Amino acid sequence: MTAETATVAEEEYLQTLFWLQEAGLPMTGANVSRAMQLSAPTVHEMVGRLERDGYITRGTDRAIAFTDSGAEHAEGIVRRHRLIERFLTDVLGVPWDEVHEEAERLEHAMSPVLEERMLAAIGNAKTCPHGHPIVAGARLQGVPLADVEVGASVRILRFENEAEDLLHYLKASGVEPGMDATLTERDDAKVVLRVADGSLSAVTPSVAETVSVIADPSPPPRTALPEQLVLGQRYGR
Ligand SMILES: [Zn+2]
Ligand SMILES: [Zn+2]
Repeated sequence: MTAETATVAEEEYLQTLFWLQEAGLPMTGANVSRAMQLSAPTVHEMVGRLERDGYITRGTDRAIAFTDSGAEHAEGIVRRHRLIERFLTDVLGVPWDEVHEEAERLEHAMSPVLEERMLAAIGNAKTCPHGHPIVAGARLQGVPLADVEVGASVRILRFENEAEDLLHYLKASGVEPGMDATLTERDDAKVVLRVADGSLSAVTPSVAETVSVIADPSPPPRTALPEQLVLGQRYGR
C-alpha cells in the first residue's frame, strides 16, 4: 500500500536516495547514513518505514530501489527544491550560496498551484542555480574538476554537493556555475583556474572533486567519491 502523502522526514530520505542515484552512487543504507550524517539504526528504521509505505523495495544484497510511487515522490521533491532555488536567485535576488537551506524548508509545503506559478516565473531556466536539472533525467554528463589536466579549458557545469558551507566557500573562491576558465595549476594543495576576465580562482583538490565540469581536453568520466562529497554537514541535494 502506498501512503497518499509522504511525511517531511520521508521526503528528506527520498530526496537523498534520488540524489545518490543521480550521482551514480549505490542506493544503500550505508550511503544514506553517510549522506544525511545520521546513525545506522536511525536510517534502518526509516528505510523500513519507506518500504512499508510502498516507496522503496530492498533486494537481498541490501540495495534499495524505488517503486513507481517512490520515484514519483522523489522526483517531485527534487524538482520543487531546484525550482525554489532558481526562483529565489532569479526572481528574488537571493545569492546562490544562500538558497539551499531555504529550499529545504519550503519544498515540503508547496502546493501544485504555487509550483506552476513559480515555474512560469523562472522563464527558460532549466537548472537550479548550482547546475542540477529541474526536470529529472535532463542531467548532462560532466567530469570532476579534480581530474582535469593543466592547460585544459573548462566550463563549470554543476556543484554536486550543495551543503551551504561548501557553497559559501565556492562563492568566496570566485567559482560560479556556468563560468568559463582555464586550469592553470594543480598540486596537492590547490586547483587554480584563470577566468576569462583574467582573475584567478583556487579551490582545494577535495572541493574540486565535488565540482563537475565540461573540459577540453577531457579526462574520462568518473563517479565522484562518496567520502569527498560529504564535506559539509551533509550532502546538499
Ligand atoms: Zn539545494
Ligand atoms: Zn541547487
